[in-house]
Amino acid sequence: MRRIESEALLLRSIELGETDLVVTLLTETDGKLACIVRGGRRGSHRLGGALEPFHTMHVAIDDRGRDLSTLREARIERVRGRLVSTLEGVEAAGACLRWARHLFPVRTPEPQGWTTLVALLDAIDEGAPPRRELAAAALCLLTDAGYGLDFERCVRCGKPCPHGRPAAIDTVRGGLVCQACGGARRVIGSDARLLAYALQNGERPEASTDDVEILVALAEDAMAVHADLAS
Ligand SMILES: [Zn+2]
Repeated sequence: MRRIESEALLLRSIELGETDLVVTLLTETDGKLACIVRGGRRGSHRLGGALEPFHTMHVAIDDRGRDLSTLREARIERVRGRLVSTLEGVEAAGACLRWARHLFPVRTPEPQGWTTLVALLDAIDEGAPPRRELAAAALCLLTDAGYGLDFERCVRCGKPCPHGRPAAIDTVRGGLVCQACGGARRVIGSDARLLAYALQNGERPEASTDDVEILVALAEDAMAVHADLAS
């Protein structure tokens, strides 16, 4: 048996029988893990009510390499009180944690994905616009998972798309597709494209609500190509 001690985020919690919980955690050291929490439904004192989403926890897990590990201890390490006090913040953070749960394979460390999620939660907690942060995190999660969308060049021939023009984009192919390569049904305006490129590179420009929502929808469609987002 191996003892895992790590920072972690709660991705999901479901009740099991009368007394237990099964939680899905994203740990910093070991990636996504499913754990049983004995007595978790009764509010075990060892866990001290720490099993809440959006705060960063420190956890101790006993891992026997089976489907379900055992969560032994959890305490909140970083409280995000401002985030959980707004509906918009909770919704944006919840959407991103749900995507992470679907995108990341089990028992695979995701250092970049971890950084992306913590940055999203911290930014919202510090008062950044939740939907813009969600768009940024969504595009970064795709990149972290190896499915990054290319907003600069045609994914087929590599030709750069000139600035200031709308472009055809195909989420199945992973980015822009120029007319010579057949184009795509979906078209993205030049402002949304510039915004996407800036967000992918860690910049946080002022952004229109419309462009932010276009990017959130695009990113979610791209994730759905690679993972079942429904469960
Ligand atoms: Zn092309």
